[in-house]
Amino acid sequence: MNFGIDDLPVRDELRGKSPYGAPQLDVPVRLNTNENPYPLPEPLVERIAERVREAARGLNRYPDRDAVELRTELAKYLTRTGGHRVGPENVWAANGSNEVIQQFLQAFGGPGRTAIGFEPSYSMHALIARGTGTGWISGPRGADFTIDVAAAEKAVAGHRPDVVFVTTPNNPTGNAVPADTVLALYEAAQAVKPTMVVVDEAYVEFSHGASLLPLLEGRPHLVVSRTMSKAFGAAGLRLGYLAAHPAVVDALQLVRLPYHLSAITQVTALAALEHTDTLLGYVEQLKSERDRLVGELRAIGCDVTESDANFVQFGRFEDSHDAWRRILDRGVLVRDNGVPGWLRVTAGTPAENDAFLDAVRDLKKEQE
Ligand code: PMP
Repeated sequence: MNFGIDDLPVRDELRGKSPYGAPQLDVPVRLNTNENPYPLPEPLVERIAERVREAARGLNRYPDRDAVELRTELAKYLTRTGGHRVGPENVWAANGSNEVIQQFLQAFGGPGRTAIGFEPSYSMHALIARGTGTGWISGPRGADFTIDVAAAEKAVAGHRPDVVFVTTPNNPTGNAVPADTVLALYEAAQAVKPTMVVVDEAYVEFSHGASLLPLLEGRPHLVVSRTMSKAFGAAGLRLGYLAAHPAVVDALQLVRLPYHLSAITQVTALAALEHTDTLLGYVEQLKSERDRLVGELRAIGCDVTESDANFVQFGRFEDSHDAWRRILDRGVLVRDNGVPGWLRVTAGTPAENDAFLDAVRDLKKEQE
């Protein structure tokens, strides 16, 4: 019997849609999902094994439902690096920042409500909106991929969203959003009605500038989301978190599944946090490789968007999907985010970046 998804009574708004689908291909150089290319250092691997062994003895019990130890350590990390004092009552954690955002939209979005993002931006914001029944509004971004304050304010005033997403540094374009812009959007949104503003700082550790955490002071409708998938090099761990007013954390607890963070996840994240300084050392290497990619791509004749992240948006190609395929033919997987003319490459190890640059050089020669 030929039976497919269309034969099922799935929700109308899911009909004909595609799931999130960055290709997971087995090629020599994978620079497509903004992962950290360095495996975890051996002493950390040992520490994780030790803590997991200890936790395994207690797996007959449910884990700490409120993940208090983990939230305390995340708060210390944010306080130490973010220029703003944060306590465990300000922090919430879940399985990746995607789950944090999902819980957030379950609490503050949902049927009859809307969220706005300034696109192109992180595609999961719109997908999670759809999954939670939240209406999605595609807000404007300039041709240079910056957010024009007047245009964005107008969109917020006109659409009256319940949630505003600002991704900084932005994915896939790489550029950071100035604090002034975020503040202006916050004010514009509050002028309409009480509106939650989410600053997605997944890549902030790679930025030339500072975190926007200090903006939390006196702004209970502002939320800063983070992840251990990028700077901590732990995408496989699935640990994301946010900082906000304690009332926001209370709201998220209304929708989170009980015991959503497994005991294994909690102790593994705690072990990684014990090694924060070593892991952030890799961030410095990746930042300089990112800057090298920007310089060399420009020398090859590519256009490059200024990057504050661990990836670079480059172009422009008449047919970016064809360019993506040709780079893949040379064993290098980059990302086609569907931004016409542009592709995105994640900063890898120096050898991976060299392989990528050679592939682009070849491609440019072919196109001359
Ligand atoms: N926010 C942004 C802007 C991202 O690019 C990503 C990952 N690609 C995430 C959030 C989600 O990361 P994770 O769920 O791994 O924490």
